[in-house]
Amino acid sequence: MGIIVAVDTVAEYTRRKKLAAKWSYPFLLAAMAFGAGLILLFTTSFVPPLSKAKLALVAMFGLVISWMMHIYFSTKYNRCPNCEAIPRGRSGGVIHDPYACPHCGARLREGESLC
Ligand SMILES: [Zn+2]
Repeated sequence: MGIIVAVDTVAEYTRRKKLAAKWSYPFLLAAMAFGAGLILLFTTSFVPPLSKAKLALVAMFGLVISWMMHIYFSTKYNRCPNCEAIPRGRSGGVIHDPYACPHCGARLREGESLC
């Protein structure tokens, strides 16, 4: 009895979401740390201007790389197990905790729909 499902999309999507968080979260923290470093650098007067420029360059580079790695890992793993599409809303933004895949309609989360 019951419906036979080829892939347990809810379990698989939960697993993927955990992977996405595990790999993308440290890079988000790193990006925030570089951003905070940049702000500190421009608000402090203890660093000479020439060192300031060099440090700012390093911090900006770190910020961009960390942010790109964050986006890379969150889009690499945050995909529907059924159709491999990234769950995006009508505005084009990635949906944080989708109930079902907007692309193919596969269930991605347990419980009731919030929308
Ligand atoms: Zn899908």
